[in-house]
Amino acid sequence: MHKTLRFGFSATVYLISASVLASAAEPVPAPKPLAVPGQKVSGDTVSIPAPKPMQGQNPEEAGSKSKEAKSCDLSGVDFESIPPVRGEFSGDAGCGIETPVRITGIERESSPVALKGSVTISCEFAKTFTQWLQSDVLPAAEKHFNGGIKSIATGPGYQCRRRNNQPDGKLSEHALGKAVDISGFSMLEGASVSVETDWGKDTPQGRFLKDIHKSACARFTTVLSPEGDEFHKSHLHVDIGCHGKTCTYLICQ
Ligand SMILES: [Zn+2]
Repeated sequence: MHKTLRFGFSATVYLISASVLASAAEPVPAPKPLAVPGQKVSGDTVSIPAPKPMQGQNPEEAGSKSKEAKSCDLSGVDFESIPPVRGEFSGDAGCGIETPVRITGIERESSPVALKGSVTISCEFAKTFTQWLQSDVLPAAEKHFNGGIKSIATGPGYQCRRRNNQPDGKLSEHALGKAVDISGFSMLEGASVSVETDWGKDTPQGRFLKDIHKSACARFTTVLSPEGDEFHKSHLHVDIGCHGKTCTYLICQ
């Protein structure tokens, strides 16, 4: 298949030095303001599956109400710091975020780029995630689509569950607020991008997805796409989980 050739870096596990990993996480310059588009804004056409209700999933319900929200330093991001999140299921402890933030958008001169439904993740992961959006994803969208991104369809971020929802799996990075799933984008010019239907295509949508997959692999420790496995046919998963004894393995699929 053509897409196998184009995504030749798939299914590759990279071993890199700690210094490389550290440099990949360093702050990047603030993004340039995006151009004000003159195009008519059409309705969103990208939909994402609603998060499955699960015990401990809702930050408001699971969070300890007695604890105060700790501040998180994010620039150019529409967000709020929320109290620590706790959750457990099936007798397991371990779900939760000590310093959670709820992100609703990325600031832009014209109008913010909305994260539909908002994303609850850890402050630590939010820095990496929003820098990727600001410095890589938004510019890539401008390259392929006039006016760039209007909104991003994501999962909820935090979910107290095991990997791939398998009953005997390890705790998912989502359960620690260190992962986000992205299923699609709505562009200001009216186009929509669906990971499920546009992945691997030689179209603006497909090339945009290829670009952001590549840039994601330079920032996150795990990037899973439809190339990866049957659980990621409909979305891109990015996380900053630890792989290997020294947390220096990268998974880019
Ligand atoms: Zn995921």
